[in-house]
Amino acid sequence: MRTLTDAEKRRVRELLAVLVGIDSSVPAPQDEDRLCPEARIASWLADHLRGMGMAVETREMVPGRANLVAHWPDQPVAGRRSLMLEAHMDTVTAEGMTVDPFGGEVRDGRMYGRGTCDTKGSMAAFLTAMAIARESDRLPADKLYFVATCAEETGCRGARALMAGGFRTDAAIVGEPTGCRLVTAHKQPLWIRLETLGRACHASTPGLGVNAVERMARAVSVVHGPWAGRLAAADHPLLGNSTAAVTCIEGGARINIIPASCRAEIDARIVPGLSCARAVEDLDALLAEEIGAESFRVLSAESFGALDAPPDAPLVRRLLDLCRQANGQSGPEGVNYFADTGPFHQAGILAVLFGPGDIAQAHTADEFISLDQLEQATAIMVALLTGSPGKSLLQPGENVASGG
Ligand SMILES: [Zn+2]
Repeated sequence: MRTLTDAEKRRVRELLAVLVGIDSSVPAPQDEDRLCPEARIASWLADHLRGMGMAVETREMVPGRANLVAHWPDQPVAGRRSLMLEAHMDTVTAEGMTVDPFGGEVRDGRMYGRGTCDTKGSMAAFLTAMAIARESDRLPADKLYFVATCAEETGCRGARALMAGGFRTDAAIVGEPTGCRLVTAHKQPLWIRLETLGRACHASTPGLGVNAVERMARAVSVVHGPWAGRLAAADHPLLGNSTAAVTCIEGGARINIIPASCRAEIDARIVPGLSCARAVEDLDALLAEEIGAESFRVLSAESFGALDAPPDAPLVRRLLDLCRQANGQSGPEGVNYFADTGPFHQAGILAVLFGPGDIAQAHTADEFISLDQLEQATAIMVALLTGSPGKSLLQPGENVASGG
């Protein structure tokens, strides 16, 4: 695999600095739809993509918040396979950062700022690689899309809206800081809101009421005990087992009143292949046994899709082969966090995660990306996009080994 020229290295760094300089941070989640944090970067990106010769479409999720979908209109043809390179535009809040969030300061081989790592580094690498591949006139036969999503940090809402609106490609490479490793699997979050019910009375005569907090205490034991045990029974080769934790709890009205209601939130991470609906049914049955069916209700249960891409798909093999050359990766990997890959996989798209930087630096007060990582990711993507000119990256080729 060829390394980048100095001019190409400068190009991807300069692009990243521009992207980081445009604040797309999401404040408190309850304000995000009002403040439309991606509006400025979406408008800058739309111009940039048009400058690359792409046709750009905006697909609105809610007023003022849109996903961008871009492709080269002169790149035919109906019936061809399609591949999207994707990165989300939003970042977590810039409040409390100990470095200039938008300055793009370069120091000791790193660029600092909000989003350098999660995930504007991936965005800069993908856009630069696409431009270089196009200029070298070695694009694959597949129709190439660049997609920039909104509202990823608050539950992949942009990607889910994009799928609900019917947009599809055959395959997707989603940019997240995987350390330039190919990731083919992650768990799906299952977020459950639970309420236990009681009957209020004066706390001086507790026997006259029913204590919802006491019921919740027993419910918490069920979640962390038998339910977590059942979830842990199924193993995934790359991900280990599912987990569950009660993460928020709130109940009661006053110190001298037996509480009539208590609410808790549960974060479970479910391995691919296990059904979230089934897991909720299981919890429901266990709770009914422990505290009685009339004593609680499941207020909501939300999940965003797991990722489990087939390791023998031609695109997966091609990308893995390039990662092997660049950093010695020997097989597909799994990660604990979730990403836009979840909704894509759920919609039937062959999706993988790949991008520069270390997830340990995402969301931190001094977020940075290593420039070596940025350049490595760009070089891998250039090699991928120029490696099979005129042929499909999604079908087996002579340069893809057929063995495992
Ligand atoms: Zn991210």
